[in-house]
Amino acid sequence: MTVKLWGVRGSIPRPEIPSQLHSRIGKIIEEYAASGQAVKDFVAKMSLPLVGGFGGNTTCVTVRSAEDLIVIDAGSGLRELGTTLLSGPLGRGEGEAHILFTHFHWDHVIGLPFFVPIFIPGNRIHFYAVQPELEEVVRLLFTRPYFPVDFSELPSQIEFHPLTPRGKVPLRGFEVTPYQLDHPDPCWGYRIERGGSAYAHCVDTECVRLSREEMGADLPLYTNADLMLFDAQYTLTEMVDKANWGHAMAGAGLDIALREKVKKVWFVHHDPYATNDKIASAESQAKSYFESRVKELNAQGEKTQPVDWSFAIEGMEATI
Ligand SMILES: [Zn+2]
Ligand SMILES: [Zn+2]
Repeated sequence: MTVKLWGVRGSIPRPEIPSQLHSRIGKIIEEYAASGQAVKDFVAKMSLPLVGGFGGNTTCVTVRSAEDLIVIDAGSGLRELGTTLLSGPLGRGEGEAHILFTHFHWDHVIGLPFFVPIFIPGNRIHFYAVQPELEEVVRLLFTRPYFPVDFSELPSQIEFHPLTPRGKVPLRGFEVTPYQLDHPDPCWGYRIERGGSAYAHCVDTECVRLSREEMGADLPLYTNADLMLFDAQYTLTEMVDKANWGHAMAGAGLDIALREKVKKVWFVHHDPYATNDKIASAESQAKSYFESRVKELNAQGEKTQPVDWSFAIEGMEATI
């Protein structure tokens, strides 16, 4: 299965403003001038964040196989996803979309009224959540004066599917299990499995339950995941001021990854106030933490598995 990130920002979309782009372009030109390289060689080595930042859209993730597609959360990244899906059956009114919600904070629902396939007659849009207020929330998103098209006027066929906490369900060719995360309003992560591979979606969470005992029935969300998406909105110093805000730091995800033998981790839900430089510096702080933690564990005689991890950039995808 292939996992793709359509939004990696937390709390509210964060478009770059022209003055920020202007100063970044200045920095790139300065670096080019100092490099003495040919343009082609310099461009080939430029990092994506230096060119375009980490991305400004809020949470939306797709998990797909050759035949099937599941969407997790309808943040502002859903708008772009909807546009790309128009070239398939959803563009002809012959498609189905399956959208799972973790919870209903604005940054996870704000893209739904701009998901074009929902306005095409013939399409079937399926919504899934553990929270019993699922239907009420989706109806509210399409209510005047917040949005000019009322839910009752939507031309596609809409279906709601309640999920059971920690109950595994087959969905298209995947198996989906919701596990509870640690957030101020109830929030459910998802473990999605197919053909022996597992994706663990762990956003939004403060992960206050860190030990295996504390995680209890929610531990299987993480164990042996091939890819884990984890909340790293804050750094260690910010966590002190923002206790109980419902978000974590990369160190917590790295500790879980080392203990639960997670192979690959992407950190998301970048703070809307975080500049690209700040996200890059949080990543280098996490790198120092990770290296010292591995050394410490090895010194205690514990063997560690390699973890391939990074702070995520919008548009990233991986096949697991
Ligand atoms: Zn969020
Ligand atoms: Zn939230």
